[in-house]
Amino acid sequence: MLVIGAGGAGLRAAIEASAGGVKVGLLCKSLLGKAHTVMAEGGVAAALANVDDRDSWRVHFADTMRGGQYVNNWRMAELHAREAPDRVRELEAWGALFDRTADGRILQRNFGGHKYPRLAHVGDRTGLEMIRTLQDHGIHRGLDVHMEFTVVALLVDGGRVAGAFGYERERGRFKLFRAKAVVLATGGIGRAYRITSNSWEGTGDGHALAYRAGAELIDMEFVQFHPTGMIWPPSVQGILVTEGVRGEGGVLRNSQGRRFMFDDIPENYRSQTADNPEEGWRYTQGDKNARRPPELLTRDHVARCIMREVKEGRGTPHGGVYLDISWIKEKIQNAPEHIRKKLPSMYHQFKELANLDITTTPMEVGPTTHYVMGGVKVDSDTQMSTIPGLFAAGECAAGINGANRLGGNSLSDLLVFGKRAGEHAAIFARQHSAPAIDEGQVGAAAKHALEPFERGNAAENPFKIQQDLQAMMQDLVGIVRDEREMQQALTGLQALDSRAARAGVTGHREYNGGWHTALDLDNLLIVSEAVARSAIERKESRGGHFRQDFPERDPACATFNISVRRSADGSMAVSRVPIPPMPEELKQVIEENK
Ligand SMILES: Cc1cc2nc3c(=O)[nH]c(=O)nc-3n(C[C@H](O)[C@H](O)[C@H](O)COP(=O)(O)OP(=O)(O)OC[C@H]3O[C@@H](n4cnc5c(N)ncnc54)[C@H](O)[C@@H]3O)c2cc1C
Repeated sequence: MLVIGAGGAGLRAAIEASAGGVKVGLLCKSLLGKAHTVMAEGGVAAALANVDDRDSWRVHFADTMRGGQYVNNWRMAELHAREAPDRVRELEAWGALFDRTADGRILQRNFGGHKYPRLAHVGDRTGLEMIRTLQDHGIHRGLDVHMEFTVVALLVDGGRVAGAFGYERERGRFKLFRAKAVVLATGGIGRAYRITSNSWEGTGDGHALAYRAGAELIDMEFVQFHPTGMIWPPSVQGILVTEGVRGEGGVLRNSQGRRFMFDDIPENYRSQTADNPEEGWRYTQGDKNARRPPELLTRDHVARCIMREVKEGRGTPHGGVYLDISWIKEKIQNAPEHIRKKLPSMYHQFKELANLDITTTPMEVGPTTHYVMGGVKVDSDTQMSTIPGLFAAGECAAGINGANRLGGNSLSDLLVFGKRAGEHAAIFARQHSAPAIDEGQVGAAAKHALEPFERGNAAENPFKIQQDLQAMMQDLVGIVRDEREMQQALTGLQALDSRAARAGVTGHREYNGGWHTALDLDNLLIVSEAVARSAIERKESRGGHFRQDFPERDPACATFNISVRRSADGSMAVSRVPIPPMPEELKQVIEENK
C-alpha cells in the first residue's frame, strides 16, 4: 500500500500499516524530515493530566466541540480525546524527549481554548521532535521511502483506488505506483493565500487529488487564520508566532497600550475567562483557581479582535497589534533567561528575521492563514474516504475540528488518526486483490502534466497566476467575507482557470520550478473554488468562517456540514450533509463541562 505525505500523519500511518504486515511505500514532495509538521511549535494536546489532575478525555472532548462550535464530527472528537494520551506516551516510548515536570513527567502547557494545561511540548520545537521520532521509528520498520516525488493523479479501478502517478522532482521522470490501498496525508492549503504560515508544500494536493478521483470534501469554508503571524519586515510576513507566547504570559496591546482582548469576551467563554489581568497572569503560571486570560480565547475570535483594532485605527505602524512577553519582567526574576528557555525559536526568529529582542521589546503581529479545518470526508473510525481503498489523515482530512481547530489538536490528530488510517488501510489491502491499472488514465495524466512545456514561453507565467490567485483569495475569501466579494472571487477563479490552461514553461524537466508551480496550480484552483463555494453556502458566521452579511451564528446551520464533489459534467456540486445526532452520553459530557 501507499502513503502520500511524510508529515506526522503520513509517518504515523505508514508505521502502523507496516506493523499490520503490509509492504508500505511512502511518498513525499520534500526530503524526509522536512514536511510541514517539522514547523509545529507549541505542542501536542492530550489529556494526560500531568499538570492539572482535573483534566480528562471528557474535558478535552468538550473543549474541542466548543472550539469547533458543534459542527465537528463528534465521534472523531471523542476518539481523538480518548486516544491522544496513549499516542503521546507511545511517542515518548519511541524516543521523544518532552519537557518535564519537576517530578519527571511530561510537562504540559496552556493553550487557547483548552481548559487545563494540556500541551505536551519540547520548548517551541515540538514538531521537530515528533518528526524525528516518527522518522527514526519508520525507517527502522523498513518503509520504502521515495523523497522529492510529487503525485499528480490517483488511479481508480471500477470506483476503487488503484495507485498513484507522479514525477520525481529532481529528474522530472514519471513513475507509477500500484497499490491496494492509499492513505492521503498531504497537509494543508495555506498557499492558496498571500499571507500564510504554511510551507511551500501546502498547495492542497491531497484535497484536489481526492476530489478529482471522485471523493467528497467537507467543511472547506472553515479556514483558520491564526491571530499572530509576523508582519514586519515584508519578506517574513505570515511566519507564525506561536500561541505558546500567550500561553507563557504574553499579552496583546493596541497602539494606545490597551489590552483590548478584555473588551470582547464571547458569552459561551465568559465563565471560563479571567475578568482582570492579575487573574489571567496567575492562570499562565499554573494557579488552578484562576481562569484563562482573554488572549487565550479561540483563534478565530482573537484574529477578529486584532482586525477590529487595526480597522478602527488602533493598529501598529505596519498594520498589526503588539504582542508583548517582555512585560513579565515585572513579575519574575531572570525574565529574559526564562523567555529564551521557554520560547527559544521565537527568540531566534525575531532576532534573526526582524532584528528585535523579544525579551525587551514587544513584537508586531497580525493574522496569517494557518490551517484548513476542511478536507477529505472520512469515516470516523477507519478514516476511509467515500472512495473504497482511499484513506485520509491529518490536515487533509476533515471532521474532528468543526468550524475551528484548537491549538495542539493537530499534532494529536496526526497521531490518533494517522494510526487509525494506517491500521485500516492495511486491513483493506490484506482483504482485497490487486486492482487493475488503466493505461488510459496514466496516459492522460502524463499528457496533462507535460502540456506546460508544449505551451512554452509565449504563454502565461505560472508564478504570476499563482500570485494573482493568492492575492484574490486573501482579499475576497479571507478573514471577513461577504456574498458579493465571494461571487466576484468565483468569477475571478474562472478567469484564473483559463489562464492556468495557457500556463507555459521553458527548459527541461530537471528541478524545473516553473513546471512544478504550473502543476500545483491545478490543485490550488480546486481548493480555492471549494473554499469560496462552501463559504457562499454557509450563510452565517461560525468559527473560522466570518460573514459580515451574516455576522451572527444561526442555530439552524449547526445541523449540517457543507460538502463539495465533482459532478458528472465536471462542475463542482455543493450540498448540505446533515450531522448525525450526538449520543446522550456525549451530550452529557458537554453539559457537565459548560
Ligand atoms: C508554524 C506552524 C506551527 C504549528 N504549530 C502547531 C502546534 O504547536 N501544534 C499543533 O497541533 N499544530 C501546529 N501546527 C499545525 C500542524 O503543524 C499541521 O497541521 C500538521 O503538521 C499537518 O501535518 P500533516 O501530517 O497532515 O501534513 P504535513 O506535515 O503538511 O505533511 C504533508 C506531507 O505531504 C507531502 N505532499 C504534499 N503533497 C504531495 C504530493 N502531491 N505528492 C507527494 N507528497 C505530497 C509533503 O511533502 C509532506 O511530506 C502548526 C503549523 C504551523 C504552520
